[in-house]
Amino acid sequence: MVAPSLARSAKPHVAELLQRLVRYDTTNPPGNERECAAYCRDVLTDAGIAAELVGDDPNRVNVVSRLSGRGDAPPLLLYGHLDVVPTAAQAWDVPPFEGRLQDGYIWGRGALDMKGGVAMMMDAFMRAHLDGADLPGDVILALVSDEEAGGNTGAAWLVRERPELFDGVRYAMGEFGGFSKTYRGRKFYMAQVAEKQGCRVQATARGPGGHGSLVHHDTAPTRMAQFLVKLDKKPLPFHVHPVTRMMIEAIGARLPRLEGAFLQLLLNPRWTGRILRRMGPAGRELEPLFRHTANATIINGGEKANVIPSEVAVNLDCRMLPGYDAEDLLGELQDIAGPNIELEAVNFQPKPWILNLGLFDTLASIISEQDPESVSVPMLMPAGTDGRHFATLGIQTYGWMPMNLPADFDFLKTIHAANERVPVSALEFGAEALYRLLLRFHE
Ligand SMILES: [Zn+2]
Repeated sequence: MVAPSLARSAKPHVAELLQRLVRYDTTNPPGNERECAAYCRDVLTDAGIAAELVGDDPNRVNVVSRLSGRGDAPPLLLYGHLDVVPTAAQAWDVPPFEGRLQDGYIWGRGALDMKGGVAMMMDAFMRAHLDGADLPGDVILALVSDEEAGGNTGAAWLVRERPELFDGVRYAMGEFGGFSKTYRGRKFYMAQVAEKQGCRVQATARGPGGHGSLVHHDTAPTRMAQFLVKLDKKPLPFHVHPVTRMMIEAIGARLPRLEGAFLQLLLNPRWTGRILRRMGPAGRELEPLFRHTANATIINGGEKANVIPSEVAVNLDCRMLPGYDAEDLLGELQDIAGPNIELEAVNFQPKPWILNLGLFDTLASIISEQDPESVSVPMLMPAGTDGRHFATLGIQTYGWMPMNLPADFDFLKTIHAANERVPVSALEFGAEALYRLLLRFHE
């Protein structure tokens, strides 16, 4: 176990810290987070805080550090990932690993996802130590590897091999949320409280094989093609998930009355599809929160150009709403597929569905202190994060990296894309919000 040392030193500015983090190319694969992790440890050590590197792959270590609190609240976990997604085949206006400061933004891969969040967390963590803040409970900082490819050397490894590091933790701050989104002139801060669960489904079509010179109907390839076309045309059934309901109600309450009432119609499954279509691009963004999704990603079949294959297999990347299991999804898919397609969930491990909103009001009050005209909204995340690993320890993650973004800045379109960047003012906003949280988190 690490203990804070007594020596107190200084910390870099949050923007400078992010610039340094961006300069480590931690593209995953392969990740190679070791040097970036060692840098983070050294920054913490220079601020007088002990930190250790843990992990079983020397190139892919994780940083763990801890500040002591007075024990009135369970320990709070701050975690972020150091790896980033590839930049290949993207047209960047600036070199993605230069860490350039230009026009008030830090540019580079990871600026938003999520080295920016890591910089904010480190800033708040070090500030609490340097100020000698009276923390309600211990605060644990974990900077992990491999989030973008499953967390095998990072969060998944930590919860499996070192769960004692997180003893007693109930709440964690991580990604993916906290950013502001301006909709119809109103500003909303999205706090992720739940995420969808990934599930790979293998779909197999079988049919008579034969020679490519003859006439064939109803073959394995055409059966599979029919299924994929049906899946494209007909959405899986709509479900109003409790978190989606909270999210829509919170947004609707803030809009003018008619617009709010229109949005609330989404919560009636008979209307959901029609309203989503009417909403255009905003509806497409919301649709995954109302149903499971299934997209064909890998197609296998046929080995020889003149032989009709008797089997075609397709991998479906499926994302289920929290709380459902693979059987629910397979049933819905089978209704669309009909009897000619076999469906099987591959390596699905159900993740516990927890929802503990005990800290939500505290987060919302911090945001409204810093941005009084805004409102905080609980959010369901359409994809997965490391939150699913920590959930196996009973830990509720809030995706909360607060960022007050300009109205025309599209967060979702900027992550994983060319020209990823973050305003310096948003980094300062988030570091301040996290610091305030460290002073007042509770049971
Ligand atoms: Zn991320």
